[in-house]
Amino acid sequence: MAKTVKDYIRTIVDFPHEGILFRDVTTLFADPRGFRMCVDQLLSPYAGQPIDKVAGLEARGFILGGAVAHQLSTGFIPIRKKGKLPGAVISESYTLEYGEATVEVHDDAIQPGEKVLLVDDLLATGGTAEAGIKLIERLGAEVIGCAFVVDLPDLGGRKRLEGMGMDVHALCA
Ligand code: 5GP
Repeated sequence: MAKTVKDYIRTIVDFPHEGILFRDVTTLFADPRGFRMCVDQLLSPYAGQPIDKVAGLEARGFILGGAVAHQLSTGFIPIRKKGKLPGAVISESYTLEYGEATVEVHDDAIQPGEKVLLVDDLLATGGTAEAGIKLIERLGAEVIGCAFVVDLPDLGGRKRLEGMGMDVHALCA
């Protein structure tokens, strides 16, 4: 039977902490068929829609978002962890299991009224994506969709984002 995107993803036990089953997408990215299938499926609901920018969440969202932006002929915007972007930024903080994280975007990267597709490898609690959405919306732009390779539904991210009125697209659970 033909391989699916999920077949290329491996699970690493106890990474980065004991008790965590980490979905490792590097094996998907490393395979030419797997990577192309994944990028094609990520962007398929959005092909033909007016999209100005693809925004990717650090770090695996850069790899996917860059490929999606290239295919859709849009610009690519990195949403980075605190302190990495060189220009003037706006920031959003969110709660992690232990502590807090902050993501940032250049304050001139996205213009008011632009339509943005948000991309990341995996949706868990949705905290990272929600912070990314808030950054994009604070710049006056509209998030037209959030595309992920993996959705872990038990962690509630999809419900959280759909509760914000977002369209969520994921390739596998
Ligand atoms: P959330 O904010 O939805 O709880 O977590 C999602 C973020 O954490 C994403 O940026 C994702 O890259 C990362 N992440 C959390 N767990 C995993 C995992 O098992 N595999 C991968 N590849 N990324 C993960």
